[in-house]
Amino acid sequence: MRGHRPQFFVASCRALLQETKPQSLVRKYGTVSSVSAGPTPQSAIFDHALEANAPRNNWTKEEIKEIYDTSLMKLAFAAGTVHRKFHNPSSIQMCTLMNIKTGGCSEDCSYCAQSSKYQTGLKASKMVTVDSVLSAARIAKDNGSTRFCMGAAWRDMRGRKTNLKNIKEMVNGVREMGMEVCVTLGMIDLEQAKELKEAGLTAYNHNVDTSREHYPSVITTRTYDERLATIKNVRDAGLNVCTGGILGLGEKPSDHVGLIYTVATLPAHPESFPVNTLVPIKGTPLGDRIGDKETSPFDATLRTIATARMVMPRTIIRLAAGRTTLSEEQQVLCFMAGANAVFTGEKMLTTACNGWDEDRVIFEKWGLRPMESFEVEALRELVSSSAPLEIQKDRPVAASVA
Ligand code: SF4
Repeated sequence: MRGHRPQFFVASCRALLQETKPQSLVRKYGTVSSVSAGPTPQSAIFDHALEANAPRNNWTKEEIKEIYDTSLMKLAFAAGTVHRKFHNPSSIQMCTLMNIKTGGCSEDCSYCAQSSKYQTGLKASKMVTVDSVLSAARIAKDNGSTRFCMGAAWRDMRGRKTNLKNIKEMVNGVREMGMEVCVTLGMIDLEQAKELKEAGLTAYNHNVDTSREHYPSVITTRTYDERLATIKNVRDAGLNVCTGGILGLGEKPSDHVGLIYTVATLPAHPESFPVNTLVPIKGTPLGDRIGDKETSPFDATLRTIATARMVMPRTIIRLAAGRTTLSEEQQVLCFMAGANAVFTGEKMLTTACNGWDEDRVIFEKWGLRPMESFEVEALRELVSSSAPLEIQKDRPVAASVA
């Protein structure tokens, strides 16, 4: 009997601990994506990407897959090395996003609260006034944001003369505050892109969302090629291109490779690559399918960011929607592996956003600082380089932009 006492004691303690363990002590690690976690054999393409001194845009999907499939620690560490070579690793761009025309969109993007095809409870509204935009931009600037982005929920700019006139006023006003200005207004033609450029626009956002293969199961009202045509118009007008994707749309890891392949093989890399994670919205097909389940595991976000950094070394990689679900440490890991921009402020387009105060605390603690306006603008010429890697290897590393 005596010999059983310690066992009984241990069992009782365990039971007691399980009953009284506060929720905060229960660690949650989430799921992992289905990419192999084992050691990766030596890869020439990985080593080339690590040693490259300039971007290249003649990637094959197989090469990008090889990088994406590298064991995660090795990949994140190498991406951090590339990041340090091409960027100031302490510098994070703070961008504030404002919805200037909410809801009522005729497109059927199956994740979006603003599509008129779904009952999400979101009330459609008319475009906001120029004054309200300028006062929001002033608040963003006072809080440290150096880039201001405006989004309108519609398919395209066809026949929107008055809207375009007002948007140009908004762009001009924000630009005069010394901020970078970006808009996302759906599909635009070359003339409209040129008008926006003349008004002082810095960049135009038009995401490709996912791989070409997975795209038709997410959106049916606009083709992948229509998206690429808008991106071409933006580039031809001399604007910076912001285009990226959303993780958690029911895709496979190969679609993350496909997404990066699409943008990394454009004639010039986009200056900005946003990595969003789906925020499920009740009433949308994807939101209802996913419910409260995890949309995309963190390792997939990190892997996508790190791969994008290796493949598009000069591009700003933007940790976009879904950042509120990441812990402080997960965000910092993304910054170490190549992410160097965030959306900050009161709101994303329709979902929650990490706020300025919260970001200020994180930045101070980890030795980060907000990027200056146009800090990376000087890199534009180099981003456009498409020389083969062999030639690029002989080119000198560009001076730090800090
Ligand atoms: S993502 Fe944009 S284009 Fe698609 S439904 Fe929403 S507002 Fe419309």
